[in-house]
Amino acid sequence: MDEKLNYIYHMYPDAKCELKYNNIFQLLIAVTLSAQTTDLRVNMCTPILFNKYPNVIDLANANLIDVINIIKPIGMCQTKGKHIIEIAKIIHEKYHDEVPNNPDELSILPGVGRKTINVVLAEGFHIPALPVDTHINRIAKRLKIAKIDDDVIKVEEKLKKKIEKEHWIQMHHSLIFFGRYFCKAQKPRCQECKLFGQCRINYK
Ligand code: SF4
Repeated sequence: MDEKLNYIYHMYPDAKCELKYNNIFQLLIAVTLSAQTTDLRVNMCTPILFNKYPNVIDLANANLIDVINIIKPIGMCQTKGKHIIEIAKIIHEKYHDEVPNNPDELSILPGVGRKTINVVLAEGFHIPALPVDTHINRIAKRLKIAKIDDDVIKVEEKLKKKIEKEHWIQMHHSLIFFGRYFCKAQKPRCQECKLFGQCRINYK
């Protein structure tokens, strides 16, 4: 494994998904809701959402206004509300209430992009994947693993080449913790960082 990534990997060896969920369907919904917001905000709403709509069919039949009211603190609640109800309908009608475990089937779900697909595969099904979120994108660029103008697909490709496949899932969590708690977008802890000499710290 790349030396810099290895350092981060061992800095947060026990990092894990911080979204609250009880099954793969709830994971899919939580990750979809987490676009453009924090896991903390999602976790404020999802226990209420999952309590009111415990099964796929319950959410598929949910009233949109009720769902919007529950997920309001997350932001973009109108769009996200429509998306999660539609996801539930498709999972119910097309996949008999089971979340599919392949990217092609997941990609037809509304509001479900590459990052969400990869999180569901990795976290839900333990299939090797390396989802690139805002933290991972920033860190890969700061540490010169990716170029500043690389898109997320390029960043993902470059990271995967530097990490053994069996470590992709844990590395994804370790990188997120590093970005969330140490190498933050604003005020990263550079003075304490052993990677300082290898970093373009000005990249936000
Ligand atoms: S030197 Fe600063 S910006 Fe660079 S990796 Fe370390 S904490 Fe992040």
